[in-house]
Amino acid sequence: MQDPTMNAPQYGFQEMATSLGLDLKPKSVETLQVNVTKLCNQACKHCHVDSSPQRTEHLSQKSAKRIIQILKDNAEIKTLDLTGGAPELNDHFEYLVQEARALDRAVMVRHNLTVIFDGNPQTGTSMSHLPKFFATHGVIVVSSLPYYQEYFTDRQRGRGVFEKSIDGLKLLNAEGFGQEGSGLTLNLVYNPAGAFLPAPQRELERDFKRELQQKFGIRFNSLYAITNMPIHRFREDLARRESLAPYMEKLVGAFNPDTCESIMCRNMLSVAYDGTIYDCDFNQMLGMNVNRSDRKPLTIFDFEPRDFLKRTIQFDDHCFGCTAGSGSSCGGEVT
Ligand code: SF4
Ligand code: SF4
Repeated sequence: MQDPTMNAPQYGFQEMATSLGLDLKPKSVETLQVNVTKLCNQACKHCHVDSSPQRTEHLSQKSAKRIIQILKDNAEIKTLDLTGGAPELNDHFEYLVQEARALDRAVMVRHNLTVIFDGNPQTGTSMSHLPKFFATHGVIVVSSLPYYQEYFTDRQRGRGVFEKSIDGLKLLNAEGFGQEGSGLTLNLVYNPAGAFLPAPQRELERDFKRELQQKFGIRFNSLYAITNMPIHRFREDLARRESLAPYMEKLVGAFNPDTCESIMCRNMLSVAYDGTIYDCDFNQMLGMNVNRSDRKPLTIFDFEPRDFLKRTIQFDDHCFGCTAGSGSSCGGEVT
């Protein structure tokens, strides 16, 4: 079957940024985000990683050890951000959390809430210990909940996901996550259910807090509103519904130069399961390697922070997703 996104028009992100004289140089490597597996117990419609219960890609033990060595050698990296797939399904996940916490780094886990109940879809291994494990190690839990109503969440993530997610949130609350004074952080991630930009983050957070508290007694710290990136499954879905061009035009029309100061790629690096390094998770999924003069892909085995601060970040039209409206990053709005 022909790729429905072929022949999509170009919108010229790089050209627009250059013509406006915007500074898009890297500033730091404060966060190392590592995609430790593409395996997931879910297969959500909007997933930019194309994760599913059938995927088999995992970060190796050798690479996990190397990540910890990089943290030891580079005090400027303050946060290890573990993502996937469902990162907990990598065999070296707990090693990474424990070692990084022992080095006094913040550890953020992109946790999907349902893996606690589903376990590993390939081995059947239970994951019910996760809430306690997260609490013991003071992990910052970041969980997607597309909406506080069942219909919209299940439409995007699959039937029954909302109910399980609510149960997962209750277990995290019971361990102290999201509860005042506990020091345990639980942040939620909202993304729109269709081809539109998110409403203002502060308003969404207020609505989510009210509804989740009133209906389920659930508490959380912050809500991150993120824009759906026009890549992979979401892009294909848009193209099939002939909505790709209107969505791109919406993003381009909402381009906000002020967001460029804080786009993620300027302060982080993204590592793939095979150890290759990218400017961000989205470039990783698009196979856009970090640029260097000899064109060889850089990996965690030749990590040198100074190289990365001299790199030219690889931008393309998907970057309009990070820079539309109030901007979008793994931590929500950027302005
Ligand atoms: S839970 Fe996350 S990683 Fe898994 S399929 Fe859904 S969006 Fe992708
Ligand atoms: S998608 Fe583009 S703007 Fe967004 S973080 Fe990646 S490189 Fe930067």
